[in-house]
Amino acid sequence: MATHREVGVGDFVLLDKIDLENFMKNLELRFKNGKIYTYIGEVCVSVNPYKTMNIYDQKHVDQYKGRELFENPPHIFAIADASHKVMQQQGKDTCIVISGESGAGKTEASKIIMKYIAAVTNKDGQKEIERVKNVLLQSNSILEAFGNAKTNRNDNSSRFGKYMDIHFDFKGDPIGGHINKYLLEKSRVIYQQAGERNFHSFYQLLTAASDEHLRKLHLSRNPDDYFFVKQGKAARVDTINDKNDFREVNSSLNTLQFSKDAQDTLWRVVAAILHLGNVEFVNDGEKLQIKNKKSIDVIAELLQVKKEELSSALCERVIAARGDIMRKEHTEAEACYGRDALAKAVYERLFGWLVDKINAAIAVDEKNYSKNYKSSLIGVLDIYGFEIFDNNSFEQFCINYCNEKLQQLFIELVLKQEQEEYNREGIEWQNIDFFNNQIICDLVEAPHKGILSIMDDASKMTAEKVTDELLLETMDKQLKTHHHYTSRQLKPADKNMKHKVDFRITHYAGDVTYCVVGFLDKNKDTLFQDFKRLMYNSRDENLKEMFPEGSQHISEITKRPPTAGTLFKNSMQALVQNLYSKEPHYVRCIKPNELKSPSAFDEERVKHQVSYLGLVENVRVRRAGFAYRQRYDRFLKRYKMISQFTWPNFRSGSDKDGVKVIMDERKFADDVKYGKTKIFIRSPRTLFALEAARNEL
Ligand code: ATP
Ligand code: MG
Repeated sequence: MATHREVGVGDFVLLDKIDLENFMKNLELRFKNGKIYTYIGEVCVSVNPYKTMNIYDQKHVDQYKGRELFENPPHIFAIADASHKVMQQQGKDTCIVISGESGAGKTEASKIIMKYIAAVTNKDGQKEIERVKNVLLQSNSILEAFGNAKTNRNDNSSRFGKYMDIHFDFKGDPIGGHINKYLLEKSRVIYQQAGERNFHSFYQLLTAASDEHLRKLHLSRNPDDYFFVKQGKAARVDTINDKNDFREVNSSLNTLQFSKDAQDTLWRVVAAILHLGNVEFVNDGEKLQIKNKKSIDVIAELLQVKKEELSSALCERVIAARGDIMRKEHTEAEACYGRDALAKAVYERLFGWLVDKINAAIAVDEKNYSKNYKSSLIGVLDIYGFEIFDNNSFEQFCINYCNEKLQQLFIELVLKQEQEEYNREGIEWQNIDFFNNQIICDLVEAPHKGILSIMDDASKMTAEKVTDELLLETMDKQLKTHHHYTSRQLKPADKNMKHKVDFRITHYAGDVTYCVVGFLDKNKDTLFQDFKRLMYNSRDENLKEMFPEGSQHISEITKRPPTAGTLFKNSMQALVQNLYSKEPHYVRCIKPNELKSPSAFDEERVKHQVSYLGLVENVRVRRAGFAYRQRYDRFLKRYKMISQFTWPNFRSGSDKDGVKVIMDERKFADDVKYGKTKIFIRSPRTLFALEAARNEL
């Protein structure tokens, strides 16, 4: 057997000395030895292997099923199993929070967890449970096709946040689920940075649909023919097989019993968006015109709306002023804005509709369970990771704020849990210093003075008066003393900020420069009422369903809908609240390099992640003087053979007494504390010595 000098320790709390350097050495040693998982107590640190590992097969499932964490080498299966066990044995709702930056392996981790749960449940082979497992697993490929895209960080980057509850019956078998989605990055529908793609669905359709299907949709096969999918100049990617993925999506749509009509709508809408991207406007000096009128016929056919209504919704706006209804022609810029807003809105609504349909397909079938029955659940959170691009906009601002919230949750829960455990067990507790990122959460979300609130105030003013530049000035005025906020206007010479309109947030994970241009628009997220009515009047029932507010008459005074920023903030706060109420398990994902290489370990990049994730502090807190803790009964079970007093059976007292006998006999009494139900061991050496004693027998 390899010693821990060769492959590193499986739990960072067992390191001789806890500091960044030793942490890094251990992580690198393990990565180089193909050990991608390492614990910090019950937290699983996972390094993206960037290669297929044969550690997820049935043999491994059997190895981890029903076992305790310490009985096997570290593995994400053990976390999934622990979560399932707590849920089943104690009836508690649990959740698995997967975090890490873009490309660190969160989505893969969430799929591995789901597959493990599917593999260890339904021992009786019930048909209904099997069906549920199938739909839960297959929902992934649909969501990924429509919600993931190639970015410069990750070829399969999640561009929406996903929280999925899996419900279980009293036997621990899955009986259904529910998905919550968070802010889809819809700006990608109309624009991609160089090297990036639009959502996978567009390329899948163009590459893999049959000739006949494409003809019906009036599409050519070539992505370069469509402005909305060609801007990044990266339509073809080696690691992505659009043909296979398209097949899989269609098969999943069938498994989830999407009707033929629904599937038809789905691809018609995707096609309509592609055509919409090619619509251009000219002003002939008299009137705003659509340049390529034929595309209007096609789009109208695909969206099943009247082409005259489509044309006028694109070129003009109907407004109600003091009881009069008037038409106001768009400027060319307004028309382009409207076209893009329509494309984004239609895709976003389509995605929401898809999630609703998936939820209907995976909902717990009430018929099978009595009203009083309350199922337990495991929530799996896989949300977009912290990201820094060359150009960071409103979306990155939201995504990074979301990661701040999750980091805050981690700090609170990990600290809270440890403190509670020490208090519960009557063990004295030493405080460990953490960087508490609450201050950054406040910078973004605090009522009245946070960035979101300043943005909302600006968004409420009439459009002509307020510009992004003005927003930045207001932010500067109100936030200039904040340690985590800097702007180009305040520090004109800052080289990291290229434009006059840049501002920077010092996030827990690093500095990110945002360009304020577009913030107000994206926050207001206006879709002209004309488009809502147009879509509501579609002959396609599915599309109509996606735009219910289109039923309002023009003269009805509509309340300003909440801004995108506020909606996102509320959804984040609700998510965190929800996670708080569950027993959490953590997977902390780390990206080993920027090259997607299975062998490179970029020390600087990894060190940075380890630092901002607070992993070394996590080990310290976990240890807080105690490297190891274990329930008396389990401890005795493992080590009773090393003392004649406890082997084969200890009859003269409690488990705690038995443990005390072993530790006294081995002269470890000074190194341990006895809690109410657990033994706490200070030095890892003691544990090594105990393990060695066991192995010597
Ligand atoms: P984002 O925040 O951008 O969505 P992510 O953290 O979800 O990123 P993934 O999509 O899970 O990242 O992982 C990126 C890629 O890394 C995967 O497509 C896959 O190629 C590889 N990868 C991640 N985890 C594993 C694993 N356990 N085994 C093999 N390959 C993996
Ligand atoms: Mg992902």
